[in-house]
Formats: sequence, structure tokens, C-alpha cells
Amino acid sequence: MEVLRNYINGKWVESHESATLDVVNPANQELLAKVPFGNLTVADVKDAVAAASEALKDWRRNPVMRRVQPLYRLKQLLEENQDEIARLITLECGKSFAESKAEMQRGIENVETACATPTLMQSEFSENVASGIDEFMIRQAVGVCACISPFNFPGMIPFWFLPYAIACGNSFILKPSEKVPLTMMKVFELIDQLDLPKGLVNLVHGGKESVDQLLEHPDVRAISFVGSTPVARYIYERGAANGKRVQAQGGAKNPVIVMPDADIEMTSRIIADSVYGCAGQRCLAASNIVAVGDTNGLIRDALVEAARNKTTGFGLDEGMEMGPVITPESKVRVEGLIEKGMAEGARLLLDGRNASIPGYEKGNFIKPTILENVPIDGELIATEIFGPVMSLVHLENIDQAIDFVNRNKFGNMSCLFTTSGLNARTFRNHADAGNIGINIGVAAPMAQFPFSGWNDSFFGDLHGQGRHAIEFFTQTKVVIERWPKEWSRKF
Ligand code: NAD
Repeated sequence: MEVLRNYINGKWVESHESATLDVVNPANQELLAKVPFGNLTVADVKDAVAAASEALKDWRRNPVMRRVQPLYRLKQLLEENQDEIARLITLECGKSFAESKAEMQRGIENVETACATPTLMQSEFSENVASGIDEFMIRQAVGVCACISPFNFPGMIPFWFLPYAIACGNSFILKPSEKVPLTMMKVFELIDQLDLPKGLVNLVHGGKESVDQLLEHPDVRAISFVGSTPVARYIYERGAANGKRVQAQGGAKNPVIVMPDADIEMTSRIIADSVYGCAGQRCLAASNIVAVGDTNGLIRDALVEAARNKTTGFGLDEGMEMGPVITPESKVRVEGLIEKGMAEGARLLLDGRNASIPGYEKGNFIKPTILENVPIDGELIATEIFGPVMSLVHLENIDQAIDFVNRNKFGNMSCLFTTSGLNARTFRNHADAGNIGINIGVAAPMAQFPFSGWNDSFFGDLHGQGRHAIEFFTQTKVVIERWPKEWSRKF
């Protein structure tokens, strides 16, 4: 079975590490590849940093207009290969083919947005700030930048960072999740066709050892991380202690409020898509659903109906809406959390445990699950499940609902379903979350906007995507300039 190679200094090279981890299809445990995993991946990271440092010297001096040209070609290559990349995402990550294609679309939109870097990088100029003195600010590259990405969006998340980083004049190292390395292998085959300077963009495999080396290496200047909250916190603390700028996006637990005036049929469909899309393995998945006032019975019945109708199976099979969770351990964990909810007093309305899909009996499948009367002070309500499980809660009014949202230690997303403009306005002004949806189930910011988590969902200052990415991948330099008359020769 193929052992995946790294892409360093413009070449595919074998890892220094001979130990490997299996990459498997979560729908049937089929072995797809082996990925280098162990202490010696540290040497791979060192090679990548050396190559990236060398490439940086000339690249950062290129005019920005020239630096964005490869992105136009990359966008075209990604579009031409979108189906093939989407198939790989489904194979290794499990989501449906339609979800994988949509994921890639979001990645491509970031490449497109980064093509505007010549304008986005423009800065400020003040004429005559003091007598005879002009002052201006320029944005310059930060240096070698690294990205560590999670398993659940292998095709999209690296593009929250990569295109902006290189357009701003930096070099880049990607360490994808060891669970899903194949998607980026294909993307890097396309990057290899761009004729970028050797070493400008590199791919290294591995786990904690390679990440720690990126955090320790003095020549790495910036770290972009997306993953679970404990690791995000660790990356932020360790990276910052080593003097790097860090943006670390963490986990989530997203509350969604349904007001009595909401359209029940449409709302229940949108919420079910949010909870069960990507088998609940989305940092913007709705998880705690709050029925306000007398909407409780109606919305509960409609949600059970919408959830029951979801088709579960292998994502490349026709008509499949929901795939497996990523690993057998993850399935055990999620089923354990369902039991925990019941032990806390919740009632199981729809039980997706012990799912067996004909032809895919070994897959990590859990079918849509709904728990109601989940205690609002219990552990389940506060724990990221990352599986297809909905927790239903009943509260009396919008103030109680907002209070419930704001007690959440995460702050990635919160949504409100209503037909009242006043409710919507109250909610968007007072709910403590970085991404707000009004009659939207997955409030995923488009590429022009920051992917804006708060609280335990984010550590840092500047998020991925759009203008925030441009600011993260540049450092400001302020120039104060005087040209005294006495020194200027007249011609
Ligand atoms: P994870 O934290 O387990 O792994 C993420 C990356 O960190 C991987 O590349 C992994 O190799 C590395 N890593 C894991 N443990 C490490 C350690 N101890 N030290 C150093 N590096 C380590 O996350 P995951 O399971 O791959 O992804 C799911 C999580 O990501 C969920 O919590 C989800 O909410 C979160 N997520 C957040 C966002 C967001 O924008 N906030 C987006 C997608 C996913």
C-alpha cells in the first residue's frame, strides 16, 4: 500500500519517518493509504521550513500583481478537478458527494477572493501630518507561515489561509489532518502545475510531533490552526510563547432558537439539514435546539419527521444525504454521549445508535438521533458531540433563550428562526456568538467575511478568510517622512 510522500521544495519526497498510520474509508474500513506518523516527521518539517525560508527571499519582493497570477490558474485547475477532489473527500472523510462538492466550492471562492489582494493590501496615507511631514502605512509579508488543519473539511479549510498567505508575499507549509491526507495530496498535484518558486508552498504529513516542530521552529512566523478546542488553546499558548502570531479556531456547540412565529415546516427542514449535514461533524452544526413558548410540540414533531427521512449510507452512492462519522472510536464516543444524555434525564425521541447499512456493515454509521427535555445545566448540553445528534430544549421567551445562548462557553454560531424583525434585531444584537444566522441553519461566512468564532471557539485576534486573512498574513510598517526645503536642490 502506498505510503504518502511530502511535497517539499517543489518535489515529492519520502518522509524520514518509516512508521505509518492507516488512512481508511469510514464507510467500510477499506485501507486507502498509509501516512507517515512518528518522531522522524520532525526532520520533514525542518526540511520544509528551510525550503520555505529560501523561497521567501525573492517571492516577497515580487509585485503583488504578479503574486496573484498563479491563483487565477489555481482556481481554474480546482474547478476542472472539483469532482475528482470531491470524490476523494467523500472516500476518506465520509460526507456525501454533494457535500464534498459544496465544500470544494467554498475553497475555490477563497482562491477567487484572494485574487483581490492587490486592492485588499492597499493601506493608509496621511499628507502633512505635521508641518512638512507625510506619514503612511504599508503592509509587508510576515515570513514562513504554517497551517494545521482538521479532518472534517479537508478540501476547504487550507484555502481559508493558503491563497491569502502567498498573495501577501509569504511562503507556506500545510500539515493536513493525518485522518484525511489524500484530498490535499491531489490539490498539491495541481499546485505543482503552477510553476511557483520551489519551496513556496509545502505539504508535510504527521501528527503532534510535526505540529510541535512547527510551533518551536524559530523561522516559522505565523500559525493558522483549525481543530478541537483543547488543541486550539494549546497551539495558541505554545505558538504565542514562542513569539509567533497565531489564529486558532476551535470547537463549537451551536444553539438554534425557534420562535413561536417561525414557519415550522421550513424551519424544521433547515434545522435538520444543519444538525445532520456532514453527519454532524461540522463546527457550524446546529446542536441544541430551543423551542420558545407554545411552538414546542409542533417543532418537535416536524423535526422528528425531517430527521427520520434522511438517507444514511456511503456518500458516493446515489441519493445518500448522510455519511458515517470519521472513526470507530468517534462512533463509540457519540453513542456514549447519547447514553449520557439519557442518564441525565433526557428522553430519546429518535434513536440512531447501532445503525447497520446493508453492504457497509463495518462503517461508522449513526443515524439521526433526537433527545428531548435535555437538562439545560447538564453536561450533554455543554459538550461538543460532533455527530448526528440533536438536543431539544424548551424555554418560555426570547430573553431566556438569549441567556441560554450566552451561557455557552463556545461562541462559533447561533441562529434564530422567526418572522419578526424585532426578534431578529434583538437576537443579533445580544447573542454572544461570532457567526449569527437569522432564518439560516449554517451561518458560514462567505470568503469575503472572517470566519468569526468567539470565546472557546477561537483563540487569537484575526480570523481566516477575506480581509482578516490579509491582515494576519501581513505586518504593518509605518513610515514618517520629511523632505526639508533646505535639503532639496531646485532644478
Ligand atoms: P483535532 O484538534 O483533533 O486535530 C486538528 C489538527 O491538530 C490535526 O491536524 C491534528 O494532527 C493536530 N493535532 C491533534 N492533536 C494534537 C496535539 N495534541 N498537539 C498538536 N497537534 C495536534 O481536530 P479534528 O478532530 O481533526 O477536527 C474536529 C474539530 O475541529 C472539532 O472540534 C470542530 O469543531 C473543529 N473545527 C473548528 C472549525 C472552526 O472554524 N472553528 C472548523 C472545522 C473544525
